[in-house]
Amino acid sequence: MRRCPLCSSDKTGPFYQDRKRTIHRCKVCMLLFADASSYLPPDAELSKYRAANNKHKPMQQLISSLVTQVEQLNPNPLLGLNFGRLVNSSTIEALRQRGHHLLQYDPFFAADHSLLKQQYDFISCYKVFEHFRLPSKEWQLLCSILKPGGWIAINTQLITELNGFAKWHHKNNLTHVSFYQRATFQYLAQHAGFRLLFASNDLILVQKPPGSGITRDPSSLISS
Ligand SMILES: [Zn+2]
Repeated sequence: MRRCPLCSSDKTGPFYQDRKRTIHRCKVCMLLFADASSYLPPDAELSKYRAANNKHKPMQQLISSLVTQVEQLNPNPLLGLNFGRLVNSSTIEALRQRGHHLLQYDPFFAADHSLLKQQYDFISCYKVFEHFRLPSKEWQLLCSILKPGGWIAINTQLITELNGFAKWHHKNNLTHVSFYQRATFQYLAQHAGFRLLFASNDLILVQKPPGSGITRDPSSLISS
């Protein structure tokens, strides 16, 4: 038994094992998570990130479509944070021309902690959540640095078929340590009092309720 790194439940059990590691499943928040004994050492993790092909085009599309959504509700200049991975400067410049400002935080290559002490109209996380060893801590951070009414767009591959896990290539990357189901994001949104606007395939969209009051009215869950 391992304590779940997302909901802290001890209702977990081994779900999958191969030569390299054991993956556990939480029965409360439905997270699948790698055993901590198989985490890559810091140097090996860093060199994998250095070698990673940063996918600027899909990251730019995620950010741009998120901004288009938020613009429709908020006519003011927006302040956004690209969290966990860096996008190219042309994306930032394109947003500047639309009147918005995008800052970037990356724990390995741009770890400016002062950026985590202010609040944002939107946050984008492109292929970041699967790398979280402590998803509870990271989620609480993201919730705290989002303005009321703000949006978070998350790109991570959702597990739709537990039976297919053994053949799921996404799990073979040892820097991927947390795997989410749709129900995991329902759990996260519900516990933060956020609205889960969308969760399908690899895109998850959540909104912090506007104003100080936190609503948990299920009818407020919009799926558009
Ligand atoms: Zn859990």
